[in-house]
Amino acid sequence: MPKKRVVIVGGVAGGATCAARLRRLDEQAEILLFDRGPYVSFANCGLPYYVGNVIRDEEKLLQATPALFKDRFNIEVRTQSEVLSINREARNITVRDIMKGREYTEPYDELVLSPGAAPIRPKWPGAHLPGIFTLRTIPDSREIREWIDSRNPRKAVIVGGGFIGLEMAENLIHRGIAVTIVEMANQLMPPLDREMAEYARLHLIAHKVRLSLGDGVTGFESSANGGLIVHTQAKAVFEADLVVLAIGVRPETGLARNAGLEIGERGGIRVDKTMRTSDPHIWAIGDAVEVKGRMSGEFELIPLARPANNQARIAADAICGRDVQYRGVLGTAVCGFFGLTAAMTGATEKALRRAGTVDFEVVYLHPTQHVTYYPGAHPIHLKLLFRKPDGLVLGAQAIGEAGVARRVDVIATAIQMGATVFDLEDAELCYAPQYGAAKDPVNLAGMIAANVLRGDVELAPWDKLNSRQALLLDVREVHEHHTDAIPGSRNIPLAQLRSRLNELPRSGEIWINCGIGQRSYYACRILRQNGFRARNLSGGAQTYKVLYPLQ
Ligand SMILES: Cc1cc2nc3c(=O)[nH]c(=O)nc-3n(C[C@H](O)[C@H](O)[C@H](O)COP(=O)(O)OP(=O)(O)OC[C@H]3O[C@@H](n4cnc5c(N)ncnc54)[C@H](O)[C@@H]3O)c2cc1C
Repeated sequence: MPKKRVVIVGGVAGGATCAARLRRLDEQAEILLFDRGPYVSFANCGLPYYVGNVIRDEEKLLQATPALFKDRFNIEVRTQSEVLSINREARNITVRDIMKGREYTEPYDELVLSPGAAPIRPKWPGAHLPGIFTLRTIPDSREIREWIDSRNPRKAVIVGGGFIGLEMAENLIHRGIAVTIVEMANQLMPPLDREMAEYARLHLIAHKVRLSLGDGVTGFESSANGGLIVHTQAKAVFEADLVVLAIGVRPETGLARNAGLEIGERGGIRVDKTMRTSDPHIWAIGDAVEVKGRMSGEFELIPLARPANNQARIAADAICGRDVQYRGVLGTAVCGFFGLTAAMTGATEKALRRAGTVDFEVVYLHPTQHVTYYPGAHPIHLKLLFRKPDGLVLGAQAIGEAGVARRVDVIATAIQMGATVFDLEDAELCYAPQYGAAKDPVNLAGMIAANVLRGDVELAPWDKLNSRQALLLDVREVHEHHTDAIPGSRNIPLAQLRSRLNELPRSGEIWINCGIGQRSYYACRILRQNGFRARNLSGGAQTYKVLYPLQ
């Protein structure tokens, strides 16, 4: 067999992984990796923490060097080498050596594109003024650090309240800079359902981050004192000494487009299940491609490191003739800021509604990450979505100070195995007091959902609370009801319920709430077995607090 020449464009998450996997599968192949930047295999996910001085040593961001690639994998890496074009007929690429300013061609048998995605910098007036940054590479983070070190900025505006925006907020505050986040959507973390993102909003406010939601930036200008002025659609004006644009990324498709490769409707390079593009000798992976969502079945752009790594392995395997297929992307993601963790996997309620899906149900719960008697228990606010009537798990979102990622990872794995809520209910997970509870939050989520599907309890629709015909019954203690009653609710503490059934109407429904949905579930069971039509408000007052300020 003649030895294969595989050329890879982009040497970070996707490209470097693909190169290393190729070598493990084919010792004979000639593998060349090009990156236009000065580094390969760097930790772009660590960049916010480098800006924030949590990671102080830049070298720590380098996971591999060209020398390591050569010595360990016999892979030739050329940095500062921009691939300018692809000649599909001749099967070669044109490369510009950025340092020497010369151009040359390199032939390939197979070409892998992993050029990533570029941060969006809209054509707003002043968008290129000094002091306005995006963050994608080590040099980008170095520039922000240098700006902070030399200018000692007092105020920063972060445009965009997504995952990177929130990580940057924490890190800039860590550097002693006051932060305002301007986000066009009416919530932070737009991929999350809005009520779950509300926990993030409250937490950021508690950490003195100023928020301007539902208002888009329109432009920037220099101020008389050498700073920047940020203008918004609502005519708000923010002063800043530093601006970070974190409003998303756009797939780098220039090379692919110019080579006539198929681009999909979401704007990413279109690939098949083996990560092959519309050209049989060109493969594409990572942030630059659009892939089918596992839950939606539609093409999606999900710029995350795990899918890029997974796709890199699939492409390498397929190039080496292995029978592999990418199973699609789930969008499992996690983000931490000021001690809070928000994580999600699979479908959100808004995505399901947007797609016109109706056969699903939602439950909220607020268990602690471990037993409450062990010190340091914190609530996890968990939302589980599942299909009716079979209970297929569709998605989950969780937010809290501890134990969040573990629960979402368990549910993500369950989703990928086609699990139902009955599987979550039954799942055997590890337990000791400092780690969890004998009924883990994942089990509880499964139990609550399974109770609904088995008909043991009916849920009251939160969105109909204000238009309900039903009696609203709060079964908490009197003092709890006094503290934060849902308007219009009547209070009968759970312990008195059995003896006060005669006070309740036999006609019409009774919607029951408590603090987090547990006592109200017990109350539902009592009432239903006594012939009442009772429904539970899942998640109780805790869910009400985040759902209803938003209505
Ligand atoms: C600040 C930040 C934080 C992040 N945090 C997380 C996180 O916590 N979790 C997570 O899952 N994901 C995170 N991500 C996203 C994750 O880093 C990306 O999904 C992943 O790196 C994508 O891999 P990729 O190979 O497609 O692209 P990249 O890793 O971006 O690599 C693309 C490379 O291709 C090079 N290139 C492009 N065009 C050419 C060309 N024509 N010639 C030569 N070279 C070229 C680029 O210079 C770049 O080095 C973060 C990203 C950033 C920027």
